[in-house]
Amino acid sequence: MLALQGAFREHRRLLELLGAAVQEVRLPADVAGLDGLILPGGESTTMARLLTEYALWEPIRAFYARGGTVWGTCAGAILLAREVQGAPPQFGGRQQSLRLLDATVQRNAFGRQINSFAAPLPVQGLDGPFSAVFIRAPAFSDVGSEVTVLAEWDGQAVMLRQGRILATAFHPELSHDARIHVVFMEMMENFRTANT
Ligand code: GLN
Repeated sequence: MLALQGAFREHRRLLELLGAAVQEVRLPADVAGLDGLILPGGESTTMARLLTEYALWEPIRAFYARGGTVWGTCAGAILLAREVQGAPPQFGGRQQSLRLLDATVQRNAFGRQINSFAAPLPVQGLDGPFSAVFIRAPAFSDVGSEVTVLAEWDGQAVMLRQGRILATAFHPELSHDARIHVVFMEMMENFRTANT
């Protein structure tokens, strides 16, 4: 778990219920030895600034390059994208990102009137809708050919998978439903066993 800012405690609680050993990441050395990394929700410009301050951009890219599984939720998904749209003007409309996920992400895509809402979201691979909590949520577009759209809401892509990368525009850690955490743990497990 990246634990610089945002909703990391909620993820931690769910992962521990599922039996995962969780390490909080604040320093480059914390990334060593992990199978998976979650970039939580929060505020993506703040998180980007902290990633620079704590020198974590390269360690996270290296973690992915050596076979790590990554999941970004909301602000965390923004950090993963190839291109970020809708960054505040003081950033010149541009925002640094890891560029691991072959998609464009539009910040606050569901408008200011409905900054937050919960929706019964049909998700590919799950046996029934997921009660998804959207908080000033982004949406994805221009997804690459390696990317599968696992869920859409209001005509916009809100959940993607690209190999070892999972991205959700909503906050699965805030629902009393561990099914998406199970998907992530299975992804980690598959890649770990494929590499041993
Ligand atoms: N709108 C926020 C951002 O752009 C993300 C909100 C969230 O993570 N809940 O960073």
